[in-house]
Amino acid sequence: MSGDDKHTHYFASTIGWNLCCKQATYLLLKKEEVKELSFKEEWALKFHLSFCKFCKLFRKQSAILNQMIGKTVLTSKAQLLQRDKDKLKLLINSNLNGN
Ligand SMILES: [Zn+2]
Repeated sequence: MSGDDKHTHYFASTIGWNLCCKQATYLLLKKEEVKELSFKEEWALKFHLSFCKFCKLFRKQSAILNQMIGKTVLTSKAQLLQRDKDKLKLLINSNLNGN
């Protein structure tokens, strides 16, 4: 659990009910990886997704991507997932900076 403390601490001090998109997508990815979020993170994410079209779309695309990867490449799934997540993160950052 100690590896996660840094992130938890970061969000504990900065997270509010109004997440920015970067925080929301971070939480989405974290949720996929560790399968659970803290109560506060979970609700802040739900709140953000209730009005943010971009992050809803991201969640959908991320889920589809993971499904596709899971079906087609079983042996190196973890590596590909990480690589695609990195790509998605870059995509998100470039989209956010574009706005
Ligand atoms: Zn958002």
